[in-house]
Amino acid sequence: MKHHKYLIVGGGMAADSAIHGIRKIDPSGAIAVICEELHPPYDRPPLSKSLWKDAQFESIWRSQHNLDIAIHIGKKIVNLDPARKTATDNAGNSYTYEKLLLATGGSVRRLSNADENVIYFRTVDDYRNLRQLCEHGSDFVVIGGGFIGSEIAAALAMNNKRVTMLFPESGIGARVYPRPLSEYLNSYYQEKGITLHAADTVRSIQRSGKKFVVTTENGKVISVDGVVAGLGIQPNTDLAAQAGLEIDNGIVVDELLRTSNPDIFAAGDVANFYSRLLEKRMRVEHEDNANTMGEIAGMNMAGQKHPYHHQPFFYSDLFDLGYEAIGELDTNLEIVEDWQEPFRTGVVYYLRERRVRGVLLWNTWNKLEAATELIAEKNEHTPATLLGRIRN
Ligand code: FAD
Repeated sequence: MKHHKYLIVGGGMAADSAIHGIRKIDPSGAIAVICEELHPPYDRPPLSKSLWKDAQFESIWRSQHNLDIAIHIGKKIVNLDPARKTATDNAGNSYTYEKLLLATGGSVRRLSNADENVIYFRTVDDYRNLRQLCEHGSDFVVIGGGFIGSEIAAALAMNNKRVTMLFPESGIGARVYPRPLSEYLNSYYQEKGITLHAADTVRSIQRSGKKFVVTTENGKVISVDGVVAGLGIQPNTDLAAQAGLEIDNGIVVDELLRTSNPDIFAAGDVANFYSRLLEKRMRVEHEDNANTMGEIAGMNMAGQKHPYHHQPFFYSDLFDLGYEAIGELDTNLEIVEDWQEPFRTGVVYYLRERRVRGVLLWNTWNKLEAATELIAEKNEHTPATLLGRIRN
């Protein structure tokens, strides 16, 4: 039985940020990190963006230099006993703790009717597999028109691959972007040589020699060298459920990031927190959230009482287009578009009952603070009061 003052379950960006948070307060308390992946913590966003352009592979690794921690890679915590303050991994090792962090992230959604070699893109190993396929393969199908699907399709096309996208919605990013913008993205991707099968889904994916044969519900049959899917994730709450912690679309945490057990914290993609800005509970899958929440969770594990009042932003890159966004981006809300140059530069506002709930800053930079203030002020708005409000 190994004892650590701090035990961190998961080895992603939230876990790494928690290590740094703990060390800001407690320079010497023993920290152990248990990570199912075979790698120490790394940045995920470059896997679908900069690594396909010019960034060096080595740049993704996070540094815990001189922080004196024990990282156990390739081990999964399978049992958590809050009464005994003990966690056990899949190799039978047990660890006791004073404070524990669940930074277990999420697991990819999979297709039920597909060959097992489909790449459900999430990890550095998925990136390496896809890179390897790209060495000899020229044709790829990307399933999903959300964040991961749209980024990977662009990355492959920029690397001179023939790409076919398949997604059930009418357009790329249709659940998040206003319809005209989503339609513009469809034509933009087509101009870049990508074939789109919108409003269609997978019937089956089978192996035929080295090729994959994708058959769609609309009857298309596509033969390719690789299939990549970005279908979203499910939060990894099994351990928390087994430990009797409160769960509601993620592990429920209070503003100090404690779960329903005060010695167990949660942070990152798996945590359901209260957003002070939006006055509601939410769970998000964003880098800024994993980093900021992870660090604050670490500081609070070490005895601080910092409330998590940060509203995380997110971002994406699609060819030469890019954006930052904050708040609720939901196409069911009322949408006001304010374009400086149609679909190239502008701001999109998402309103509920005339109040701004979310802002999409499309190729519009350094405006996150202004967008956050606009959501916070809670004044009633009309298109007339919003046009030019942020972009100028
Ligand atoms: P994860 O990164 O999922 O890490 C959790 C870790 O815990 C995993 O390594 C998992 O194996 C491990 N684990 C789980 N259960 C156990 C267990 N029981 N025992 C031990 N280990 C366990 N966000 C943005 O804001 N902008 C972007 O542009 C962007 N791009 C992205 C691109 C890609 C390709 C991906 C995959 C994600 C992207 N994201 C982006 C999302 C962002 O990367 C995530 O929000 C972030 O990685 C979440 O970090 P996390 O530490 O909470 O969870």
